[in-house]
Amino acid sequence: MVASEFPRLANLSGRATLVWADGYSDVERLSSGRFSSDPQQVLAEWERFKVWAWEAEAELPGRPDYELLGPPAPCPRQVFAIGLNYKDHLAEAGYDTSGLPQVFTKFASCLTGPLATVEVPSPRLDWEVELVVVMGRSGRNIREKEAWLYVAGLMVGQDLSARDVQLYGSAPQWSLGKSFAGFGPTGPWITIADELDNCDDLEIGCALNGEVMQSDRTSSMIWSVSELVARISSVCELNSGDLIFTGTPAGVGNRRIPPLYISPGDRLVSTIEGLGTLVNEFALPGTRLET
Ligand code: ZN
Repeated sequence: MVASEFPRLANLSGRATLVWADGYSDVERLSSGRFSSDPQQVLAEWERFKVWAWEAEAELPGRPDYELLGPPAPCPRQVFAIGLNYKDHLAEAGYDTSGLPQVFTKFASCLTGPLATVEVPSPRLDWEVELVVVMGRSGRNIREKEAWLYVAGLMVGQDLSARDVQLYGSAPQWSLGKSFAGFGPTGPWITIADELDNCDDLEIGCALNGEVMQSDRTSSMIWSVSELVARISSVCELNSGDLIFTGTPAGVGNRRIPPLYISPGDRLVSTIEGLGTLVNEFALPGTRLET
C-alpha cells in the first residue's frame, strides 16, 4: 500500500518504526539496512531519513501494539527544559514575566515511553504536560525565522516533578527534582510540523483519574518554539535528536488549593492536538512493571 501522508516515527520495542493511519513498517528492514534500527540514530540522520520516508510504504496493516511503544528519542545528547513559559502558570507560580526563559535539563535517563508505569518516589509528585520539540538538524546561532527548518517534529511529554526534591534547600534543584526514573514520558511518536494545521497553536492538556487538570493552547507560550530554538542555540549547539520540553500551562498540583499530588494507582492522561496521547499509571516503588 502507498502512504498518502508522512508517517509518524515511533520506537517499537526499541526499533525505529514508521506508523501511518493504516499500517506500519520497521525502518531498518524496509530500508534494507540503509537506516539503523536505533531510533536515536535515525534522528541523527534526520534530513536524509526524511527524504526516504516520504516514499516509504507500510508493510504491515493496522496499528502497532501500543504497549510496545518506547520513547521516540530514547537517548538524546541533550534535553533542554523550559520553566515558566505560560502566562497563567507563571502567575500561579508567583513569578513575573521579565527576563530570559528559565532553562534547565531533565537528565536523559529519566526518559520513558508513552504508556510507561512510573514509580512514585516522592509524596509530592506533580504533573506538567508539555509540548516536546525534537531537533532534526544541528546548529548554533539558529535564526528565529529559520528555526522550524531545524526541527524534526513534535511529541507529547510529561515533565514529572518531585516538588519536595525540586524545592528543598535555599535554591531550587529543578534538574534533579525532575529526573527520577520514568519522569520523562514522551511520545507516542514524532509528528512532523507539516502534518499540523498550525504547529504554534495546539490544544494541550492533561487529566488525572479522569479530572482535567491542565487545559490551554501552545499559542499561550511566552517563548515560542522558534524563539526557544534561537535563544538556546545562541549558547549551546543543538544536535539532531536533542529534545526541548517547552514548559507547562497552569494547573499543576502544587499550586492547587489544597495541593494535589500523584499517588500510586493514579492514571495520568496527557494529550496534544494532532500529536497523540500519553497514558501513564503510577505504582509503589519496587512494583514498576515496564518502561
Ligand atoms: Zn516543566
